[in-house]
Amino acid sequence: MTQSQFLEQGVWLRGNTHTHTTRSDGKVTIEERIAMYEKGGYDFLAITDHNKTYDPKNYDTKMTLIGAIEFHPQNPVSTSGDWHFIALNVPHDFEEPLNTEISAQVLVNRFKKNGAYVIVCHPYWCGFDKKEIELIKNADALEVYNHVCEQAIGKGDSTNIYDSLLQAEHQYGAISCDDSHGGEEACFGGWINVKAKDNSVDSIMDAIKNGSFYASTGPSIHDIRYDGESIEVDCSEVRSINFMSRAQKGTQIRADKGSSLTTATWECKSASTYIRVQIEDHEGRKAWSQPIYCPNE
Ligand SMILES: [Zn+2]
Ligand SMILES: [Zn+2]
Repeated sequence: MTQSQFLEQGVWLRGNTHTHTTRSDGKVTIEERIAMYEKGGYDFLAITDHNKTYDPKNYDTKMTLIGAIEFHPQNPVSTSGDWHFIALNVPHDFEEPLNTEISAQVLVNRFKKNGAYVIVCHPYWCGFDKKEIELIKNADALEVYNHVCEQAIGKGDSTNIYDSLLQAEHQYGAISCDDSHGGEEACFGGWINVKAKDNSVDSIMDAIKNGSFYASTGPSIHDIRYDGESIEVDCSEVRSINFMSRAQKGTQIRADKGSSLTTATWECKSASTYIRVQIEDHEGRKAWSQPIYCPNE
């Protein structure tokens, strides 16, 4: 049976899952940050100050605000610093103790137990590889793209680490985000587009947890259909469409010079472990689908 990767009936909502304000090391106040994304046409936003929750009810905006936090347990096996995790859907009255003495796994489990969606942040910038990340169980997703890490030192794109985890049969969603600390110049570089029942926090979180979304720095994915034998994507105008699976399995379909692609199909019988779609537009901006997990050969 052919199935869409996205909710059949729903609305597309654009959002940023990672940003800072003067409540931690951001350069703008929480009110200014919210106004910035509202003006930028976003539908939802998670404020993720370091080790600090916030109460979405205190702010007046047309956007949906998701309670969230960035937290930093120690990473004893790393020589390059503490962990960075985002927890989405965290209530402001979250009362579990939170400090760097508590192990990363214990903290991840506490957030998960309270209904949060946990994201491994910017692993390339952190200097973390697959071996370190796979020590943490139960994280839901990984930032394949983090805009501030790209702007700072060109280490925003963690796709390579992401594929190495998927290949080892770990299941992670793909997130693209801003991690904006500065003003508008730091915003609107990476986001997710979620197809949800409506714009409530519960519907957005349900859609994210069910994989009804994609990550992007520019192009749009309109639909992905999969029937076990072939996978088909419809998207905005791009120069290449990649179907990617374990190791060398997959294919790239390129537009002829001077033209664009908006759809492609791959007969994916040779795929193993996972299949994901990655597209690239004429400016080199990308979008990443969520992986479809498939049996090994
Ligand atoms: Zn961080
Ligand atoms: Zn951050």
